[in-house]
Amino acid sequence: MQGHSNIGLSQAPALWINPEYGGQAQEVEVGNITINDVLAAEQRLARFAPLLKKLFPELDKSAGIVESPLLSLSADVIAPGADEYGTFWVKADHQLAVAGSVKARGGFHEVLEFTEKIARERGLLKDDDGYEQLASATARECFAQYEVAVGSTGNLGMSIGIMSAALGFRASVHMSAEAKEWKKRLLRSHGVTVHEYPGDYAQAVATGRDLARENPFSHFVDDEKSPSLFCGYAVAALRLQRQLLDLNVRVDREHPLFVYIPCGVGGAPGGVCYGLKHVFGEHVHCFFVEPEDSSCFLVRMQNPDVEGISIYDAGQHNRTIADGLAVPQASELVYSMMRTRLAGMVVASDERMVMDLWRLKSMADLKVEPSAAAAVSGPRALLGSKEGQQYLRSTGLDAFMPTANHIVWTTGGALMPADEFDRLFVQGQALSSALDAGRISAA
Ligand SMILES: *Cc1c(COP(=O)(O)O)cnc(C)c1O
Repeated sequence: MQGHSNIGLSQAPALWINPEYGGQAQEVEVGNITINDVLAAEQRLARFAPLLKKLFPELDKSAGIVESPLLSLSADVIAPGADEYGTFWVKADHQLAVAGSVKARGGFHEVLEFTEKIARERGLLKDDDGYEQLASATARECFAQYEVAVGSTGNLGMSIGIMSAALGFRASVHMSAEAKEWKKRLLRSHGVTVHEYPGDYAQAVATGRDLARENPFSHFVDDEKSPSLFCGYAVAALRLQRQLLDLNVRVDREHPLFVYIPCGVGGAPGGVCYGLKHVFGEHVHCFFVEPEDSSCFLVRMQNPDVEGISIYDAGQHNRTIADGLAVPQASELVYSMMRTRLAGMVVASDERMVMDLWRLKSMADLKVEPSAAAAVSGPRALLGSKEGQQYLRSTGLDAFMPTANHIVWTTGGALMPADEFDRLFVQGQALSSALDAGRISAA
């Protein structure tokens, strides 16, 4: 492979390589999470599968397990010439049943862990009783005494709200200014109480957390600090390992695996990365992708000494079309676990996300939201930038690129209303043809 990129791109998205990647974890990790907690989460989801199958008819064909397919992706979606750098895949979380986003695994897991705790405390579960009976009138009456609350820009609220309401809990979602109207409408149609705030995501979370603290019958799902969410997200890695095996995709020195995941507070991509590093060790390389004006995880990674640093401290404003990623502050829990595990970060413009939304639909028939389309900027940045090429050379990975595999993690979109999607699709098409005509720059 040559020292320069063969990808047909004038300007690649910005790439930052983590200088601490692969080093010794000298710092104490905040949450004391181990892989046993992730295995326990996987088993918990399996225990609840019969109940979920009963509550959601759409889970009938998967026997109550909520999982997405691993689909093959044409390298042309990334860029002309990308096929020289390996084989491309989509981990299609935008199709995840019930919640329509990556939040399904983490969010469902935390609600189910809470359900299990209440059911045990209240004597609803005897040792050898099946979990289906938690759909009984007695169980629902009991659950109705409790509230499950969460702060959300949208998708976490949908995951937590829909699952809690289906089990019979009272569900409250505290939503920040970025939250889309259709997400609020959909939640209300499930009987979820939606509280709206004019402020940003961190403020919605703080308000929800304070309200829940005063109420002993309320469980607050804390996106910034929750080990239960994190472990639920990490289950994806165990399942992906089996999907790769089934497809005869090898992961070893000669077959490096690159994974690109959109990032908000870091929980979902962090969980996946943690799980994948456990499974594949040094042969998997994870990159998170963030919006230019909401790159909280990058800001935190670049300021290891500044706990709690926000994007505002770095001169950003949290204005982005990617509502699922519009987060001002990274999770400290996840940051501590990513310091030596995360290979790097990519930053994508809103225009890029809208154009990639259009590309994924028109070239691969995948309907994703802008936050999920951000993932396409991952391989483009690694393979198309000077920094990326330099990284691949210095690590010796360049020798194995033709046999590499790349996974673009499309994190959400299935529940988007058609008119909302069509509007973005048309916008992406117009931007792409303007770019072809050389009228705007490809930041
Ligand atoms: C929440 C979300 C992410 C990122 O997850 P975090 O845990 O906030 O980092 C990515 N994509 C979509 C569509 C999301 O809803």
